[in-house]
Amino acid sequence: MEESAFCLHCETENPPGARFCNNCGRPLDLVSYIAETRWTDRQTQVARQRGGLAALKEEAEQASQERMSRWWQEENERRQAIAQAQAKKRRQEQLVLIIAVVGAVVVLMALLLVALLVNRGGPGGVAPTAVPW
Ligand SMILES: [Zn+2]
Repeated sequence: MEESAFCLHCETENPPGARFCNNCGRPLDLVSYIAETRWTDRQTQVARQRGGLAALKEEAEQASQERMSRWWQEENERRQAIAQAQAKKRRQEQLVLIIAVVGAVVVLMALLLVALLVNRGGPGGVAPTAVPW
């Protein structure tokens, strides 16, 4: 009488002469079992490599997106800096213009004052209405 076969994988007792385990379906003889286990290991390895590749690809994509968004951020900051610089320049130009206008008015008033004094101090004491302009 044949001995009952124990599964190498799950240790289930199988009826004598059985080639595959009733519980897990793996081959009951050692050589087949090792071959199948190796095959399964190889499949797992391949799957893991594929998963690794997919993860790598995803990582690369994510990195590229991050680079893109960082680039956009830098671009926006650059544009804001330029806009600020332009606004500052415009303000400075306006300030220079105001100073020039105020300066011109002050100079004009000084000239007017000098003209009045000169006329008043002139010969015969001519009235200040005789300003030439
Ligand atoms: Zn089994």
